[in-house]
Amino acid sequence: MSDAFDYDLFVIGAGSGGVRAARMAASKGVKVAVAEERYLGGTCVNVGCVPKKLFVYASQFPELFQASAGFGWDIPQSPTLDWPTLRDNKTAEIERLNQIYQTLIDNSGADLINGRATIDGPHRVLVNDRAYTARTILIATGGWPYIPDFPGSEHGISSNEMFYLDQLPKTAVILGGGYIAVEFAGILNGLGVETHLVYRGSALLKSFDREMVEKVQEGMQAKGVRIHLNSTIEAISKTEAISKTEDGLSVLLNDQTSLDAGLVLFATGRKANTSGLGLETTNVQIQNHGAIEVDQNFATAEPSIYALGDVIDRVQLTPVAIQEAMVLVEHLYGEGQLTIDYNDIPTAVFCQPEFATVGLTEEQARAKYNDIDLYLSDFKPMLQTLGGGAERITMKLVVDSASDRVVGCHMVGDHAAEIIQGIGIAIKAGATKAHFDATIGIHPSAAEEFVTMRNKER
Ligand code: NDP
Repeated sequence: MSDAFDYDLFVIGAGSGGVRAARMAASKGVKVAVAEERYLGGTCVNVGCVPKKLFVYASQFPELFQASAGFGWDIPQSPTLDWPTLRDNKTAEIERLNQIYQTLIDNSGADLINGRATIDGPHRVLVNDRAYTARTILIATGGWPYIPDFPGSEHGISSNEMFYLDQLPKTAVILGGGYIAVEFAGILNGLGVETHLVYRGSALLKSFDREMVEKVQEGMQAKGVRIHLNSTIEAISKTEAISKTEDGLSVLLNDQTSLDAGLVLFATGRKANTSGLGLETTNVQIQNHGAIEVDQNFATAEPSIYALGDVIDRVQLTPVAIQEAMVLVEHLYGEGQLTIDYNDIPTAVFCQPEFATVGLTEEQARAKYNDIDLYLSDFKPMLQTLGGGAERITMKLVVDSASDRVVGCHMVGDHAAEIIQGIGIAIKAGATKAHFDATIGIHPSAAEEFVTMRNKER
């Protein structure tokens, strides 16, 4: 494109958004570099979505072993978990994915530069003491776990370290009530760790449908997670080691009771990763909570610099960062027709029971529409009829009475993420309750309940 600069586009960060932007731009003939200081694939591939899901699978086996008896299986001796095998197999899979990312970048024609990048003015990036010039710089540096500061908080760890533990603790305390807190509560509990979840609010998962969150909490508690609501940690101190290999920690709660634990996990949110990036050498503006300010085209206040993904903190989800990258590349190097709609983004929390949702919560719908209809279904999954477990599935449809449009759809229970992904298309297409009613179910499935709900709950 231009001889005046080393690169047309210099991407900082090879996570989900950065790699997609780099590859798409390079495929359009743009001269691209992407710098990464840590690991290819970013949080999602290395210390997020992917290894988390593998751990979720691992943690679900004990319930399946239990259910198998009702189906005639006799497991001669009680199954045991070898944590190093799980951890190391997971790591090998992540390394395989890192390699795939490397190949994707190489094949796209973009240059991968290993090292920490700092911005040095609107068109310069320094990596490993070398300066590169670029017509456009894209900041896709993601986020980093936030750890609150209180006496002894240095004894706790973040989700980053959870994926590489030397050993599993016997007891764990998790602070927070968002995605990461509830997901790790399910993982640890399923892997046999006594798990305490400490959350400052009166109900977990603040932005989700209240009624469905209650189902999640009931389900988590039934599986053994000990949930401490309206609670905070005041201090953490070291005590005598719990075992030869496990540190002892005493966790003091705000009601002055304390919990002994081998591990404290902070799942207290993630902050935009901008420190030491050299933004002070530019006009890039930072919002109050630390995220980079961008307009609808992901442009910062510095005309040559763009940002997307977790570092702009609109919606911290991998598929959102990827779509933002596609929109940006189209804007910079294509027809500029692609857009991103932040409404009706389907999302799943891989807690146990699983929870997935698309559209408005009941609370949001009540605030937006004059009248809403609610349809609810709560039933025992077929696996449990012979399996004997107590788990249930709950589904909820939120309908705008005036237009008959289904404006929210929520599910707690097995395969919620898989089911809600499909329903998300219907919601995006503006489906009405009549469309749901006219759809033939797949029998026998849990998903068919979504098209057979006939009686208004309220
Ligand atoms: P969340 O923002 O989801 O949750 C953070 C939690 O920490 C909230 O419950 C918050 O409380 C609490 N908290 C914040 N500060 C403090 C504090 N000082 N003391 C005590 N509690 C505190 O962040 P996560 O870290 O769980 O995850 C980060 C993001 O990553 C998520 O928002 C999500 O976008 C993404 N993610 C997505 C996943 C998925 O798609 N399945 C899985 C994991 C992460 P309060 O609610 O009161 O503010």
